[in-house]
Amino acid sequence: FTPSLEPQATWCPGCGDFGVLKALKQAMPEVGRTPDETLLVTGIGCSGKLSSYFQSYGFHSIHGRSLPVARAAKLANPDLEVIAAGGDGDGYGIGGNHFMHTARENHDMTYIVFDNEIFGLTKGQTSPTSPKGHKSKTQPRGNAKSPIRPLSLSLTSGATYVARTAAVNPNQAKEILAEAMEHDGFAHVDFLTQCPTWNKDAKQYVPYIDVQDSDDYDFDVHDRREAMEAMHDAEDALYEGKVLTGRFYVNDERPSYQQEKQSTGDMPETPLAERYFDDDYEWERSYDFLDRHK
Ligand code: SF4
Repeated sequence: FTPSLEPQATWCPGCGDFGVLKALKQAMPEVGRTPDETLLVTGIGCSGKLSSYFQSYGFHSIHGRSLPVARAAKLANPDLEVIAAGGDGDGYGIGGNHFMHTARENHDMTYIVFDNEIFGLTKGQTSPTSPKGHKSKTQPRGNAKSPIRPLSLSLTSGATYVARTAAVNPNQAKEILAEAMEHDGFAHVDFLTQCPTWNKDAKQYVPYIDVQDSDDYDFDVHDRREAMEAMHDAEDALYEGKVLTGRFYVNDERPSYQQEKQSTGDMPETPLAERYFDDDYEWERSYDFLDRHK
């Protein structure tokens, strides 16, 4: 891995992706993690640039595959703070299978999905979260299908922390990202990011309602049934122009994949990353391998 050098971000002016970067930068000191203790893995899309702009170790992987790379890194080095990120097309479409199974296995990491309801980098095609009727180059007469329900999908798959925040709400976003990073298990944050270049409807993200601050919403985030109902309402409301954000589900009881594997003795006592660097034999084997494949 190479440490990111934090170059000037090239997202379009007004892009919600700046909000994710800002919130993440502000959340890091709150969790007490330094750049050399953190790995940020991204997929492909405008969101994929995050690993270049954020100061930490970075890995820009392939389309929809940030989660398997993040899982491997966390297993090899459990002390790393691992964050995976992708867009709604990248994460819920191409990488939907990885999303479901990483949640099911409750891998200890934070997964941020930049949800702008379109494919941005490839110029605005319909994505899994595009509303029904949304017009794009790929669906010029309007999207015939209903969007997926990312929060509900996350909960039913097995995620133990599920939240939604928005780029227009930097304070809430920072708090949610900090909580997600501190959570032991799979923490999924559906991050609403406006794309003013290809999805003018993104203005629907203002104003938002924080379900934890509003008297109209009263549910226990630790109760699975209540959380499911609240998510369902939030997903319906989004496409009716009402943006509900906040924590929807928190389960601190279920052990993470790493904790379960440790309890059954399946995880080596010395992490793979440490063994690799301490063991001359492993280094020699690696050099031999590289020599053979020159
Ligand atoms: Fe952001 Fe959209 Fe521009 Fe991509 S195309 S950088 S998502 S505004």
